[in-house]
Amino acid sequence: MDRQPLPVIGRRDASRPLAAPGPKLRPVAPAGTVECAGCGRRFVAARFEKHLRVCPDCGRHAQVPALIRAGQLADAGTLDVIRMDLTDRDPLGFDDGVPYPSRVAEARARTNLDETFVVARAGIGEVPAVLACMDFGFLGGSLGSAAGEQFARACDVAVDERRALVAVCTSGGARMQEGIASLAQMARCSAGVVAVARAGRPYISVLADPCYGGVTASFAVQADVIFAEPKARIGFAGGRVIEQASHDRLPEGFQTSEFLLAHGMVDAVVERGGLRDAIGRLLVAFSRKR
Ligand SMILES: [Zn+2]
Repeated sequence: MDRQPLPVIGRRDASRPLAAPGPKLRPVAPAGTVECAGCGRRFVAARFEKHLRVCPDCGRHAQVPALIRAGQLADAGTLDVIRMDLTDRDPLGFDDGVPYPSRVAEARARTNLDETFVVARAGIGEVPAVLACMDFGFLGGSLGSAAGEQFARACDVAVDERRALVAVCTSGGARMQEGIASLAQMARCSAGVVAVARAGRPYISVLADPCYGGVTASFAVQADVIFAEPKARIGFAGGRVIEQASHDRLPEGFQTSEFLLAHGMVDAVVERGGLRDAIGRLLVAFSRKR
């Protein structure tokens, strides 16, 4: 009769990892450090900030809060943030467990922003400009009525003070909690862009990861020059939604900056470290008297 060998007690099978008792433990991140979501390398936060939140190893461009972004683009000492009293709207009385006004209040408290945009006067390449930078951390950079008001007022400042308009766009799209009122902001922002164009002021947009929905479908791509950051995801609907609707496989790299550059949707893919110079050079060229 064949007998199975008895298991050896007290000696571990080296090919099988030891199961740790209790819940899986994860290493505690050292305080004051950030991890690159691309390669997993950990950096001292101040060093990462000095690199404009771009990983020096893998080149991944991390998201940047709007106020920091405005500081990165403005000439030193020229940033003048325009705070606004905004009209909040809750046309649907939207409540998904948390009432919509509470979500906005929480986002305001957390980010210390009025709304999705930071609007500021600044010099870029010594040319007077108005910056409208979106913050993805404010309800996903979504475009609601108050955000539309901010962008429209940024356009007004550009027209009234003869400044260039520079927008940094990062958004999940229209703010669904406001229903059709948020979709109307696409038209409102587009009208602002038209006013800037009619006043003969240049408008440059920078598309940062991620940039989707009603923002991509309106003012983000209505600029005279459209820059995108490397490997930013840019589109209208997400890739999975398109695949489900079209029953087609999407091409490799679909909805990335590089793909859109190759297909003529953006004018240049510019690394974050070169953005201020690239925008400044363009604004100087645009502002030369013909
Ligand atoms: Zn990295």
